[in-house]
Amino acid sequence: MRFLPDGLGLYIHIPFCAKKCKYCDFYSACFCESVYKNFFTALVREIKTWGKRINRAVDTVYIGGGTPSVMGADIIPLINAIRENFSLLPGAEITTECNPSLDVSFLESAKSAGVNRLSFGVQSGDDARLKTLGRTHTAADAAFAVNAARKAGFENISLDIMLATPESTVKSAKADANFICSLSPEHISAYILKIEPNTAFYAIKDKLNLPDDDGAARQYLAVCELLESRGYSHYEISNFARAGKESRHNLKYWRCEEYLGIGPSAHSFISGERFYYPKDLKAFIGKAEPVPDGTGGGKEEKLMLSLRISDGVPTNRFSGEALKKARRFETAGLIKISDGRISLTDKGMLVSNSVITELLYEDL
Ligand code: SF4
Repeated sequence: MRFLPDGLGLYIHIPFCAKKCKYCDFYSACFCESVYKNFFTALVREIKTWGKRINRAVDTVYIGGGTPSVMGADIIPLINAIRENFSLLPGAEITTECNPSLDVSFLESAKSAGVNRLSFGVQSGDDARLKTLGRTHTAADAAFAVNAARKAGFENISLDIMLATPESTVKSAKADANFICSLSPEHISAYILKIEPNTAFYAIKDKLNLPDDDGAARQYLAVCELLESRGYSHYEISNFARAGKESRHNLKYWRCEEYLGIGPSAHSFISGERFYYPKDLKAFIGKAEPVPDGTGGGKEEKLMLSLRISDGVPTNRFSGEALKKARRFETAGLIKISDGRISLTDKGMLVSNSVITELLYEDL
């Protein structure tokens, strides 16, 4: 098969968590040793199958979930299987998500396996808020885990913060952001809580005392300002990074580049085709094939995704009518037009879906 020199992004989904967080709708099951062992065998089988099917160089690997740190030392044979079956390019970004309440020996295993980027779901620096969210860690656990990661030699760490949580205010969101900054990560992801069906929060959503849309917007804008003042560049709607520390793997999604996802619920985009493994652990172990999910990578999708990132889109990609509308959005402070490119401002990122839809509507 033809060897393609461009780098593929590889996503691995580890569908286990010690306990389900109350807001989470990611596909994961409670950890059980015997099921996990069968899953791991199936995962390596799928890595081998795909390695034979597509001979591609890989330049980013992202191990997500679920809670990949439940793998413990198995992260070593996992990365070895990837190296043996794909051509992992020198300097590839290899990320694993971690729970702040992890066993720190996982960090040593990850380091020796060649993982060079960690992402911790810290979410808040307030123990009461963490408890409300159903997280198993405390703020002290998060600080301990990040410190242990530094000791283990990790120089590229991302931390998540969650905004608009129950009972939260601008003051509490800023306190959480200050806590995250005090841990000096290279990258920060800031998400506004969305109450999704099939979560514990969904059943009690009217009793959660959540901020309204304006309150959530004020938290987001305050945290954007705080993080930018601390030297983090706001390079995507929910993502901030020190110079050169943007997530190379996630940029592939927003740039409509190709990626392969392995594991139950993992999605792929290769040669213009989208497909995914069903959210079914048992079926994955039993060798379920990925399900086709249509085609992708068209002009509309590319523009939509490119507008999510701060680089934006060259103005010459838009028609005269769309540009007129863009200038009106610029006056309203929702977009910036500079150096021949259109991009969203912080305020525009808050209402990105409507701004993007309006611009594309004029163009397509
Ligand atoms: S938020 Fe993370 S740790 Fe919590 S249940 Fe979801 S995947 Fe698991």
